Amino acid sequence: MTNKKANQKRSSEKPGPVRPAQQDTKPLHGPHPAILQLGNPVLRSPAILVKDFDSQLKKLAEQMIEIMQQASGVGLAAQQIGSIRRICIIPGQEDKPLVLVNPTLKNLDGGNQPAIEGCLSLYGLQLPVERQLAVQVQAQDLSGQEIEFKAEGLQARAVQHEIDHLNGILIIDRVSPQLRWMALKQLIQS
Ligand SMILES: [Zn+2]
Repeated sequence: MTNKKANQKRSSEKPGPVRPAQQDTKPLHGPHPAILQLGNPVLRSPAILVKDFDSQLKKLAEQMIEIMQQASGVGLAAQQIGSIRRICIIPGQEDKPLVLVNPTLKNLDGGNQPAIEGCLSLYGLQLPVERQLAVQVQAQDLSGQEIEFKAEGLQARAVQHEIDHLNGILIIDRVSPQLRWMALKQLIQS
């Protein structure tokens, strides 16, 4: 998931050298080279449960955090860097990255709300996505310990976005057919 604040900051930076007019609406930077983009089949593959809480898993989590931060993201799922293990990163306390292994959700009865979301695998796209306002999260940490907490606000939105990734679902699947069509057209043209 992308960081809206970072995007806003980037777009308000002073313009660099004058570019041809037809490029003005295109993003200034391309997607992170390590992050798979729409069209890669790994993004559509449901992730498999993690059973080995070993050093490889810790290394994968470290890589995910590093790449996510380089891309100014606030969340990342393993498929986005080509792994199909059930692990994702979301904003934790004080927005520090929180690693969730084998996460599941219980919806709390707080209602839904649409808000604009971006995705590091759909570079440059922002779409209104309806999410639960608060969810109960059950997961394991990197040593296999069970964790459970209530997520609200950005954290609730991020965990729903990342668990969608782990199930092979992207934000374009969560909007109307008309919006999806416009979004795909925008991606093709960018
Ligand atoms: Zn995403």
